[in-house]
Amino acid sequence: MQAYNVTTLPQATVCAPEPAPESAIAVYHGTDYLEMLKAANSGQAPAAAARFGLGPGDNPVFPGLWDAARLCAAGSIMAADLVLNGEAERVFHFAGGLHHAMPSRASGFCYVNDAVLAILRFRERGLRVLYVDIDAHHGDGVQHAFYGDPDVLTISTHERGDYLFPGTGFVEETGSGAGVGYSVNLPLEPFTDSAVYLPAFEQVVPPLFGAFRPDVVVAQLGIDSHRTDPLTHLALDIQGFTRALSRITELSPKLVCLGGGGYDLPNVARAWTSAWAVLNGVELPAALPASFAADMKRYEFLTDSLWDPPAPLPEHRLVRAQEFARRQVDAIRRTIFPLHRL
Ligand SMILES: [Zn+2]
Repeated sequence: MQAYNVTTLPQATVCAPEPAPESAIAVYHGTDYLEMLKAANSGQAPAAAARFGLGPGDNPVFPGLWDAARLCAAGSIMAADLVLNGEAERVFHFAGGLHHAMPSRASGFCYVNDAVLAILRFRERGLRVLYVDIDAHHGDGVQHAFYGDPDVLTISTHERGDYLFPGTGFVEETGSGAGVGYSVNLPLEPFTDSAVYLPAFEQVVPPLFGAFRPDVVVAQLGIDSHRTDPLTHLALDIQGFTRALSRITELSPKLVCLGGGGYDLPNVARAWTSAWAVLNGVELPAALPASFAADMKRYEFLTDSLWDPPAPLPEHRLVRAQEFARRQVDAIRRTIFPLHRL
């Protein structure tokens, strides 16, 4: 972003939050859990850590864990407040988007659910929120938080839960009570690429924006959907990711973007730089800036372009991915759309 000079655009500001106070996190997370996170800040796992999902595995205890969680939460709360106060219409907090954290449990590298905290900030002011999550993993923690709330529409597109963590996000998960129809899941077959993803996205997401008419949108922009990501099996490219975000941006009256997953780091840098350009309405040259050459070496970039080269799927994978996506879209149209008079 710095090499492309998009951190100093005239209309943009870079802000750094102060760590969130415990009270701002306690609006969603349980007291016992927060005590555990605070105790883990030393880097030593407290005795009962495993009961809260902490320990060896995805959610290790490390020195400064609580400090990091407070900063991450603060970034998303600040993003929501900038929008609420009228200081910004679009905000991007790319250290946020930790969508797996549960009220009293760490999960999937996520300790505090900053996405939920940002949405709650809007809900306190009575705003209707559309949450759209394009990470390769199901946005289970956010869906869980608002499963019964018809004023928060959650949409998650992700690799199918029977193949990938966290094992949820099926079309049948549509919400509970008054919230039925307000949790939308579009699972995808491994190797789904941008050519399969974008038409499916288009058939599901814009109609729901139109029917729900949110006051504000929170988007989780994980890029572990990329074809070289080591943790997942989707096959998007940076162009497809960028196109999806362009659509979200066009459709959103106000927009808070959060980061998310992404484990091939050069992809993360390219995708989120591209995202920031979209949010600012700026077109970037494809060639990565010459001033970035030394860093490209250092971070082992395999490409010198912002965009990915074409990599068409073998026919059998394409057909399989298309067929699966078609069935999911049909199911959403059958079960969710009528609840929104679509
Ligand atoms: Zn992910």
